[in-house]
Amino acid sequence: METPFLFDAHVDTLQLSLDMGVNLAQTSPGQLDLPRARAGGLGAVVMTAWVHPRYCKPENGGAFQRAELLLDELDGLAQRAPEQTKLIRTQADWNEARAQGKLALLAGMEGGHPLEASEAKLEHFAERGLRVLTLVWNNHLPWIRSCEPDAGPDVPAGLSAFGRHLVRRMNELGVLVDVSHSGTRSFYDALEASTKPVIASHSACFALNPHRRNLDDDQLRAIAGNGGVVGVPFLPSFLDSDAQATSARLRDTDDYRGLAASNGTELEVVRTAHMQAVMPPLSIQRLIDHIQHIAEVAGVEHVGLGSDYDGITTTVEGLPDASSYPALIGPMGERGFSREDIAAICGGNMERALLASLEAS
Ligand SMILES: [Zn+2]
Repeated sequence: METPFLFDAHVDTLQLSLDMGVNLAQTSPGQLDLPRARAGGLGAVVMTAWVHPRYCKPENGGAFQRAELLLDELDGLAQRAPEQTKLIRTQADWNEARAQGKLALLAGMEGGHPLEASEAKLEHFAERGLRVLTLVWNNHLPWIRSCEPDAGPDVPAGLSAFGRHLVRRMNELGVLVDVSHSGTRSFYDALEASTKPVIASHSACFALNPHRRNLDDDQLRAIAGNGGVVGVPFLPSFLDSDAQATSARLRDTDDYRGLAASNGTELEVVRTAHMQAVMPPLSIQRLIDHIQHIAEVAGVEHVGLGSDYDGITTTVEGLPDASSYPALIGPMGERGFSREDIAAICGGNMERALLASLEAS
């Protein structure tokens, strides 16, 4: 079948632009750039400002400032490539991008720490174009607990009253709530607080691999009840327990520890080249297993894609970078998904959640 509209709900590419001076309108040493996105038929992508928690320290510039700089890179990319891309703020922007066949760029943020527990800062980011917020990363915040097991002393069990208020503010501001990385209680609290569908932009199935970042069947059904969407990630460690163990073993080696680069982002690029070379391939069929499981448990209208490109050091076989999304289509068809199902999974479902979020409250 012809490549359907493709929507990737989570990539961490902006840091390559900021820290390595990569012009994403040309060719990147990472996993996503405009030429490869075009080759892969990508129609929309959430470009996430992933802020390492070390930036929370004022001496490192602060998390708010780091997010600002990353989002500046997205603005710069959209300005440099106006023929190919459209930065999405409104439903009208979205409709224009779709009509003109431009890559729809959405500003995302991974982890609420750049908000610095300030509603005014959420409003600031929304005003400058933030449209998707992953509430928490692997570091707990005063208003939300992440899925990491070790709870700090002042961490709420789920979302605090302020956290719930922020979720409702996001609903009002047209910022899509993303519950990937949330602790279990935070996940349910966010769904309860949100008046709109939420997404789990890059999470797989706990039933297929009991990884703390994955969603169990009750959570999948809750997403369905909320009208939301789960974006299946392309990271073997999330998809498969053997791959997870192998990856952990390969990172615990002198070869891996000896890798070096001039900054953290460049180091991830070096680590990716190394890991892709040494990791045994994980079949694309394993990724399709997760798509199928979500479709069976939650319904096909609640499955999407969230590759996590440029946030992952290994990828599933056949999906090395943004030029490779069409490799998913044949295997989905062989599993019995109809053309309509495949179109919904590849982009239609995420589009529905996004448009609901962009709707004026
Ligand atoms: Zn993530």
